[in-house]
Amino acid sequence: MRPEILFPLFDTPLSLPGVGKRLAPLIERAAGPHIADLLWHLPINLIDRSTRPKVSAAEEGTIATIQITVDKHIPAATKRLPYKVRCFDDTGYLTLVFFHPHVDYLKRVLPKGEIRLVSGHVARYQDEIQITHPDYIVPLDEEDTLPLIEPVYRVTAGLTPKTMNQAVARALERVPPLAEWQDAALLKQRDWSSWSDSVMRAHTPESREDLSPPSPARERLAYDELLANQLALALMRAHLRKTGGRSITASGALAKIILSHVGYQLTGAQERALKDISSDMEAPTRMMRLLQGDVGSGKTVVALLGLCSAIETGAQGALMAPTEILARQHFSFIEPLAQAAGFTIALLTGRHKAAERAKILEGVADGAIQLLIGTHALFQEGVTFKDLALAVVDEQHRFGVHQRLQLQGKGGATDILVMTATPIPRTLTLTAYGDLDVSRLDEKPPGRRPIITSVMPIERLGQIVDHLKTAVREDHRVFWVCPLVEESELVNATAAEDRYVHLREIMGDTAVGLIHGRMSSAEKDAVMDDFQTGRLKILVATTVIEVGVDVPEANIMVIEGAERFGLAQLHQLRGRVGRGARNSSCVLLYNAPLSAAARARLAMMRETEDGFRIAEEDLKLRGAGELLGTKQSGLPDFRLADLQIHGDLMALARNDAALALSKDPDLISPRGKALRTLLYLFEREEAVRFLRAG
Ligand code: ADP
Ligand code: MG
Repeated sequence: MRPEILFPLFDTPLSLPGVGKRLAPLIERAAGPHIADLLWHLPINLIDRSTRPKVSAAEEGTIATIQITVDKHIPAATKRLPYKVRCFDDTGYLTLVFFHPHVDYLKRVLPKGEIRLVSGHVARYQDEIQITHPDYIVPLDEEDTLPLIEPVYRVTAGLTPKTMNQAVARALERVPPLAEWQDAALLKQRDWSSWSDSVMRAHTPESREDLSPPSPARERLAYDELLANQLALALMRAHLRKTGGRSITASGALAKIILSHVGYQLTGAQERALKDISSDMEAPTRMMRLLQGDVGSGKTVVALLGLCSAIETGAQGALMAPTEILARQHFSFIEPLAQAAGFTIALLTGRHKAAERAKILEGVADGAIQLLIGTHALFQEGVTFKDLALAVVDEQHRFGVHQRLQLQGKGGATDILVMTATPIPRTLTLTAYGDLDVSRLDEKPPGRRPIITSVMPIERLGQIVDHLKTAVREDHRVFWVCPLVEESELVNATAAEDRYVHLREIMGDTAVGLIHGRMSSAEKDAVMDDFQTGRLKILVATTVIEVGVDVPEANIMVIEGAERFGLAQLHQLRGRVGRGARNSSCVLLYNAPLSAAARARLAMMRETEDGFRIAEEDLKLRGAGELLGTKQSGLPDFRLADLQIHGDLMALARNDAALALSKDPDLISPRGKALRTLLYLFEREEAVRFLRAG
């Protein structure tokens, strides 16, 4: 249960004075559903009203606060002209300008002959010094209600800056004094103040420096957020390790058969990863491991060998892929191997007839099916394994921590191996996968030839197509990726269809195929099959082929509208070629003019094939949240931490969390209790249930 002291922070904005039914939804849209979200809604800028010139010295284009005496009201001659109030000081006249005036109101706040402080944007119009719609008009005895430095917040349509500022100010009044959860030595070393003080300071910047992420107040808040994240992951990890777990020891006989059939030797990196996996499986605790390897590094066979250990001991294995294309690809790779090794496998996707599905489910339940391959249908209700020992989740970046937990609830003592082809920078690995151990495939299978990458303007399309004619005659296989027009598969599919029609006219109907996300699974499979077997030479595609598709014969990749793709995506796409024995090439076609960022991305693609380097570069060019697409990636959505800037704090938070838990595993010491509050504050309460005492 959330501690009572936090209740005020988890009210809705509607509970704030001055926020009614009209404003509340707007504030929620801008910041979030709780008062706490307003605290996390840090200013993006500030308005400095501290310049207080005399009228004649007021500089055009600046924000100034000026003390004036009201001279006279000048009503507009026509409706379209503004209402003016002429004011003065001992250096000259200042005209206040109002469009669509509320005259009564203006008469009240600007009575003739009275002294007022006004603050706003200074302009000159003909010979007049003007302020149009001053931000503040206050009498001298209310001077302190005019903030000389004002934070500026991101707002949404319909919300004025003033309303937003007031809402945040009201929210700040709710900030409770909380017991310190940070280590005292760290606070001192970093020059950080208490949480409540840091929140206040972050919202009352005095200079631009105070707005920058490395300012002490913002840094402290970012660290709080990172610590909550790491603590939650550490608790989850400790919990998973304690529960379930079983020892799987295989002789390796099945693995040997598989290896003799694939016809290659494992790379050193694959050997090392496999050893990590085997010793995890042998240990009585539950395996929670991430297998990270660039595209084409050979993760599938490693997973399969791990699955063989489970199967050999009489238990079951499962392999889950994010798309149906991938699930089928795994199935067709593994099926002949399984036959040779003598175990049974089945493919479960979302589109079986009821009877067929029932039969598979029965086989899974009674153990007749030893390895089940599928999409996430595999872990839905109704699928019960007789004895699931190892679950492998491929291309993990599409699943988040929550799905991991869910999956983990399936088998009593199921070991879990997640695989990702996204070479995530280290800092991000910790955020997203801090609950997992990591094996990295940092070496590609031998014999890979470099992919020759070239960058060309779309005007040279004709030339490329001419080249392809020759290439097709020589039996090369080509992926042609169409531009990402927008986040709509419909629009993207249309673009791909147009290109498909165009290429068919030139190449002939038989050579060119089309695949996109609007096609039925059966249609997609048929096209993939034709491309795999070489009946089709050119496959026009949307990014549905981005993840995992393995057609070693494909050796030419054309990416149209390459400037629209992110680095990671370009790298994933290019990774579809360069897998076979022949030389490969990748042509990045762009539409001029290129933005500086797009130019940098394309240059990087030409420079290297190293996925980890590309990922680090990507992190520099874009924010961490964007990097994988937060929603897809399972990356937590940080409000305060910016991993590009606070990345070094992440490792610190991980160690800090581990140390705190090693001293006080159930968080019952005074600091432990404060850390619990921290978890609630950042809405990581799902982690609290892993604690014994409450
Ligand atoms: P990814 O890591 O992207 O999933 P895959 O598992 O699809 O990579 O492997 C890419 C290709 O490399 C496949 O065609 C696979 O058969 C091949 N491969 C994997 N390991 C080796 C190896 N040790 N030697 C040669 N080829 C390998
Ligand atoms: Mg793969």
